[in-house]
Amino acid sequence: TKLTNDDVRQMCKDLNVKFIRLQFTDIFGVLKNVAITVEQLDKALDGEMMFDGSSIEGFVRIEESDMYLRPDPSTFVVFPWKPREGGVARLICDIYNPDGTPFFGDPRYALKRALAEAEQMGYVMNVGPEAEFFLFHVDNEGRPTTKTHDKAGYFDMTPIDLGENARRDMVLTLEQMGFEIEASHHEVAPGQHEIDFKYADALDMADKIMTFKLVVRTIAQRHGLHATFMPKPVFGINGSGMHVNQSLITLDGKNAFYDPDAPMGLSKVCMNYIAGLMNHADAITAIANPTVNSYKRLVAGYEAPVYVAWSGRNRSPLIRIPAKRGMSTRVELRSPDPSCNPYLALAACLHAGLDGIKKGMTPPPATDRNIYEMTLAERQELGISNLPENLSEALKVLAADNVIKEALGPHIFERFIEAKSIEWDRYRMQVSSWELDEYLEKF
Ligand code: GLU
Ligand code: MG
Ligand code: MG
Repeated sequence: TKLTNDDVRQMCKDLNVKFIRLQFTDIFGVLKNVAITVEQLDKALDGEMMFDGSSIEGFVRIEESDMYLRPDPSTFVVFPWKPREGGVARLICDIYNPDGTPFFGDPRYALKRALAEAEQMGYVMNVGPEAEFFLFHVDNEGRPTTKTHDKAGYFDMTPIDLGENARRDMVLTLEQMGFEIEASHHEVAPGQHEIDFKYADALDMADKIMTFKLVVRTIAQRHGLHATFMPKPVFGINGSGMHVNQSLITLDGKNAFYDPDAPMGLSKVCMNYIAGLMNHADAITAIANPTVNSYKRLVAGYEAPVYVAWSGRNRSPLIRIPAKRGMSTRVELRSPDPSCNPYLALAACLHAGLDGIKKGMTPPPATDRNIYEMTLAERQELGISNLPENLSEALKVLAADNVIKEALGPHIFERFIEAKSIEWDRYRMQVSSWELDEYLEKF
């Protein structure tokens, strides 16, 4: 059962909450918040808290700047790392226009629209993410570095893995905040970690991903470390992905991707969904890999996808089907990285999958060979294309993909393309140390 406004009022009393952070996520995936005292709670729950939308990048211009926050009471949670007396809680909010209509620039609203469409077709979307991150040292002035204390690798244990204390603290904190943690482990690269939590419906999960990133960074800081979800902080080792495991559940609670009588146990709906994801994969990349740096991760040799293909077995393609069937039948999209806005990334995936179902798309045959070992000619013969190689390419495909455009809505679509094009331009004008090393003496 979901918490109501009355539950929130009661819990604030019972738990000695003094401050409440009203949170929302901007278009670029950054968590924003305004703190109120508990005395203002009623006003906030009635949706009367106003803020200046023109101060948030990509929201609105100065002439139309009043926006309203409407807290979702089901997202109420107390921050366990704050004092018990005079504690701090948060509420995630939807954003409304002064005329009482939902704001089209609110990413949470984009996901809600996608979920409403899925529901009309008879489905609920479940999501299980695998967010990876690095723990780095800070320098004497407290600024983050890319130095790591540890030399550990995949599944290693202490005493090599010095980040383990921090990670344990993160897991305990997340559990206190209602997360069910399924596993946490050291990842392949030195200083790299992963914490996996139980799947949930897509809206809850997008909220959880934002909370997860906040908790990981906050707890790391308390251990004197810097946690980063930057996709590729260090050249030459694995980057950080955020694989998105996704499935559709019918309104009567069955996994729509599972069909024991079908080849591989995958239903027709599942095949359509895979085909939809593949069909829109390039445009999804702009949303799921939204930074210049994201594309430094999507290269061969570091367990990140490069080619648009799917497989029941190997991990090189974009889409993998984990072995479990029955209620756990799911599709794992391996391209997203944790710098993405989870609301938009899930909305884009869902729209792509539903498009596959609506149009009855069929995916090409599964690729069970290692694609990295194929020649270009072999790949062409099998119809295996590349994901976009940089942000600029991805933005061009996004601009031409009406389904993903629709997933974002016109407001977010325009602001996203505009801001990300500027980001790309700022980047491409730079002269990097790689170029100086390569050309300064040569020419
Ligand atoms: N770190 C890899 C990536 O960039 C994924 C490793 C894994 O399979 O968990 O996606
Ligand atoms: Mg991993
Ligand atoms: Mg995975």
